[in-house]
Amino acid sequence: MDLVLINMSLIEIKNASVIYNKGLSNQMDALLGASLEVESHEYVIIFGPSGCGKSTLLNVIAGLEKPTQGEVYIDNENLDELDADRLAKFHCTKIGMIFQAYNLLPSLSVRDNIILPQMFLGANNKKDRRRKADELLDKVGILEQANKIPTELSGGQQQRIGIARALINDQPILLADEPIGNLDSKSAQNVMGILEELNKKDKKTIIMVTHNPEYLNYADRVFYMKDGKIEHEVVNKKSKLHKAKKEITPREKEFEMLSRSFPGLSDAQLHLLMVPFKAKILAEYLLTSYDIEENQRLAESIAKRILGKLNRSELRTTLDRPLEKGGVGLNERTASRFSSEAEKIIESAELFQKNLESDASRLGLEEFDLKVKLATRHLIRSFIKEINEEQKKRIEHLVKKRLANEIGREMFRDTLDLPFKKGGAGLDKRVVRKIVRELEVILLVKFGMEEESIKSKVHKV
Ligand code: ADP
Ligand code: MG
Repeated sequence: MDLVLINMSLIEIKNASVIYNKGLSNQMDALLGASLEVESHEYVIIFGPSGCGKSTLLNVIAGLEKPTQGEVYIDNENLDELDADRLAKFHCTKIGMIFQAYNLLPSLSVRDNIILPQMFLGANNKKDRRRKADELLDKVGILEQANKIPTELSGGQQQRIGIARALINDQPILLADEPIGNLDSKSAQNVMGILEELNKKDKKTIIMVTHNPEYLNYADRVFYMKDGKIEHEVVNKKSKLHKAKKEITPREKEFEMLSRSFPGLSDAQLHLLMVPFKAKILAEYLLTSYDIEENQRLAESIAKRILGKLNRSELRTTLDRPLEKGGVGLNERTASRFSSEAEKIIESAELFQKNLESDASRLGLEEFDLKVKLATRHLIRSFIKEINEEQKKRIEHLVKKRLANEIGREMFRDTLDLPFKKGGAGLDKRVVRKIVRELEVILLVKFGMEEESIKSKVHKV
């Protein structure tokens, strides 16, 4: 067994699938039996249209997404066999992630943004961390900005903070998800140049995801993806056409969208890192392959829907309509998923706005209790296949406490997560996570609605 392991590639994915909402009406086969091997110091590109499963595959390699089926070996470790602590350590030491959008913490200085991943590892003393951060800041040409906060810097400079941060723990593997997705071609070329240098000079193993065919010749190999599958693989000739194109001066090493997230932190660590950061990661996860304009249009459309300026089918059509025609430009599959998820949440949030007094009194219930029952029913229908009466009661009890704000998110989750014998709901951890996430989003949207309705009442007066 050990002998076999010694001969393994740095990265080996075997027959990995990721199925979302399995068995439910909105089941999504995001990844279907993907297998690939990447050698140390290789540079590969995963290429395919939006929605084909590229980010999912990258998240599987990063250990952020556990495949529903299949195996993931990174540097001789079977990720499935790592407990949470070791998985967190694996992320911090092995993998640097680069995304399309910023993930900088606005309240920390430029230097501290870079040092942060080291603090989570408990690596080095304060002085050494600082020295190392400054070395990297120098390398990317923004050492003079070390004491500023990120927003005091230009876009291009902020992205260089992200690069420095992706390098701070000497991670051998860099995973880049659409790093040139938002860039004009000059900046994109600069980014490609930096990635190439990191691969050639610093011997980083790079996996880059893109839906832009322009730069495929930078990689040693290209994997073509479609509908959740790796369709074929192309090995690039050594001639490297792009060499002629490339002429980077340090001054030009500026580009607009690069950053590194902090994958693999524990819940408690992430919580400490504050909610906006978590929200960014979540948004990133949902929207990685979309550019800023699409993101803005998406948010605007949803805002209009929440305010009632768009109806259900108008939202759906707006999501699908091309950008040039004033839409959000999502593909059909994604547009329909986003719209139905948004509708579900808006509907549940609206529930709390509605006057259900007469329905409630007909049922002999307090209005609030009826709302709790309806919210609970929504959660159970969305995420649970089989459930008994006692489980239902326990979930409803906790939902009530959370909606009345008697308990917070953590307490809600932890109590729900307890084993049945200890008073919990006896649910699968994944299901608990989904329920908590959904209820929190509903609460957030509901909060926004109350604000709006209060405002409009004030205006009317
Ligand atoms: P790509 O990065 O190639 O654009 P993704 O890997 O993000 O594609 O997504 C693949 C498919 O899976 C898409 O159709 C997407 O909408 C869907 N998907 C991604 N994440 C989820 C999720 N959490 N729940 C349901 N469907 C998802
Ligand atoms: Mg993506």
